[in-house]
Amino acid sequence: MTDCLFCRIVAGEIEARMVEEDGRWVAFHDVNPQAPVHVLIVPREHVATANDLEERHEGLLGAMVRGAARIAAAHDVDQDGYRLVLNTNAGAGQSVFHIHLHLLGGRRMAWPPG
Ligand code: AMP
Repeated sequence: MTDCLFCRIVAGEIEARMVEEDGRWVAFHDVNPQAPVHVLIVPREHVATANDLEERHEGLLGAMVRGAARIAAAHDVDQDGYRLVLNTNAGAGQSVFHIHLHLLGGRRMAWPPG
């Protein structure tokens, strides 16, 4: 998927402020942060939306959530609290069609979300 922004970041063709990576995902700072800590956890495999996930991806999602928790702890927001968001399709605000978890922390979060 050479026309996919996050595939290109995963491939190293576009620079991002990397945080951490493993064999299945990479994590980098969001270019337009919505909180003091705003990290995106992005699978290496191109999956457009949560609607396209298959049974074989269940381990990947667990690894992404565990990675997010580790990154939250490393950024010292794990105890105060943080939010993991997976926007799905345009009505929910998805703008990059390669699934990603937003890790948001470092400020109070409102509920319900906007
Ligand atoms: P979403 O709207 O849920 O699809 O989230 C996409 C996110 O990607 C937004 O928060 C953008 O700010 C972020 N984003 C877009 N381009 C880049 C980039 N080149 N590097 C890092 N984050 C980006």
